[in-house]
Amino acid sequence: MDVDVEQKVLEGIGIDDNIAIGKAVIFSTDSLEPVTPQKIAKNQVEKHKKRYKTAQQLLLEDLETLSNQVSDTSTRDIIETQKQIASDPEIERNVYSIIDGKLLTVDFAVYQTYDLFIERLKESGSALFRQRIVDLEDLRDRFVSIIKNKPKNNAVTKKSIIVTKDISPTELVSYYEDGIQGLIMEKGGITSHAAIIAKSLGIPCMVSVKSATDSIPNQKEIILDGTVEKVYVDPSKKLVKKYRDKIAKIRAGEAKVENLVSETKDGKSFHLMANIEFEAELPEVKNNGAAGIGLLRTESLLFGHRIRKSSEEQEVFYGHILEDSSGEVIIRLFDIGGDKNNSFSNKEANPFLGWRGIRLLLDEDKLLRNQLTAILKTAGKYPGRVKILVPMVSVMEEVQEIKAIIGGIQQQLEEEGEKVDKDIPIGVMVEVPSVAVSAFKFAQEVDFFSIGTNDLTQYTMAVDRGNERIYNLFQHYHPSVLQLIKTTIEGAKKAGITVSVCGELAADKIGAACVLGMGITDLSMVPRAIPKVKSLLSSRSMDDFAELAKAALDQCSARGVKEVFDEWHVPAID
Ligand code: PEP
Ligand code: MG
Repeated sequence: MDVDVEQKVLEGIGIDDNIAIGKAVIFSTDSLEPVTPQKIAKNQVEKHKKRYKTAQQLLLEDLETLSNQVSDTSTRDIIETQKQIASDPEIERNVYSIIDGKLLTVDFAVYQTYDLFIERLKESGSALFRQRIVDLEDLRDRFVSIIKNKPKNNAVTKKSIIVTKDISPTELVSYYEDGIQGLIMEKGGITSHAAIIAKSLGIPCMVSVKSATDSIPNQKEIILDGTVEKVYVDPSKKLVKKYRDKIAKIRAGEAKVENLVSETKDGKSFHLMANIEFEAELPEVKNNGAAGIGLLRTESLLFGHRIRKSSEEQEVFYGHILEDSSGEVIIRLFDIGGDKNNSFSNKEANPFLGWRGIRLLLDEDKLLRNQLTAILKTAGKYPGRVKILVPMVSVMEEVQEIKAIIGGIQQQLEEEGEKVDKDIPIGVMVEVPSVAVSAFKFAQEVDFFSIGTNDLTQYTMAVDRGNERIYNLFQHYHPSVLQLIKTTIEGAKKAGITVSVCGELAADKIGAACVLGMGITDLSMVPRAIPKVKSLLSSRSMDDFAELAKAALDQCSARGVKEVFDEWHVPAID
């Protein structure tokens, strides 16, 4: 796309290949700034406690209204959790003790109490909980806004593109209901929660757009182009017209994609499955024609100590997922970490390298047995459809131990007269280099591999996947990562087991094309990415993909891989 040299352009990370044209609405940073401590007199204590109760009531009403407006269940679950946190008696006690004991204002008491929990989450090191920090920050800011009487931003209309430092999923959904065109955030990475929700809702979104709130004037027209990861500020009429034409072409192309079969040009089939976490995402699984659920994340069943789901409740959840989907469902065991019993109390120096996934599950017998019992009973009701996936495996003993535990529970269930699926496949996530490097050995112990490229990239490149400062080093199609994927495929093939990719790489055009070329025909991704990936994978022959993969592996940098891909792939729409 020709762009005027004078044109002001900002860069960031595109969450999807989406484009939006709209008027920027800059969100003030006020609510994100720390609230300062202000002293109160003793006789004002009761008044401040009352203000807490009133604000809490209003917040709960707000969340209830929001929850009723939202059709997406995953977001409704987040709101549900926020409601539980907002009415948590322990939080209330903490707020009161600050008002009472330190004689400080209610807004500060709320801010400090939530910050305490946020800090614990940050220290937990779990990638999942770190993404949830933004939910808690949102709740804190909403609470403080209500106390201070700060309303929702009324400037937002159907024509708006929100420009903000950060936004919570619930806030995002409330603006999504207003019909916004797009979202630009200064913070976050592609795996931040707001980004995942934006992607799931189909909101064009860019993250890590530095100084966006300062550089974009309020109400100026902007173009957000996720395909080239650029934001054009106050574009010329000519550029706007070009983009309007481009959007029209994309819409026409989307209609054609719906009719595509999952086959390469030379007739080799591939399977595109869905990564989901909530029941609400099931309609998207169907709408986008997923060939099954390649990754069912289960951590949301544990989010918040007080709402940990019992084994029976988990069984109901798994049952709904099986009932409302078709094909296989790969259920991943809880991938929690760094925070004993989910209470965020355990400090670790290096949480990402710490007590996470299978390491934690093998120590937390009850937690593990409850989940396995629920999964195995569900598998008995839907034989041949359920697979068990073990996260964060790094050594062989973990595999042997979990297999023995699963076998024991199966036997016990059978003795109790329960139906079981005797051949339930047990697989491991390949996300730690030790497993990828010794793939053949691990492959002889399990039924399938699922390559988790988010963590495989994190551990291979030694880059914290949630750290914006080093985000440019999170290169999931770096040749070193691709080489580990290749080694994993070779090990799996030699041992005769199946292998799929379920990290964000599978939803990335470059990644999807490369892994298909390396021989992976099962990919699992956020449901909305399926049409785009299907369109690419059905556009060329298997030999073409193999050639691309070979050339990519020969590169010495991610940039080199991108250049190879750009040369190989001439987009249909430009
Ligand atoms: C991964 O690591 O690639 C993955 C799919 O798991 P998660 O993102 O849930 O850690
Ligand atoms: Mg992972």
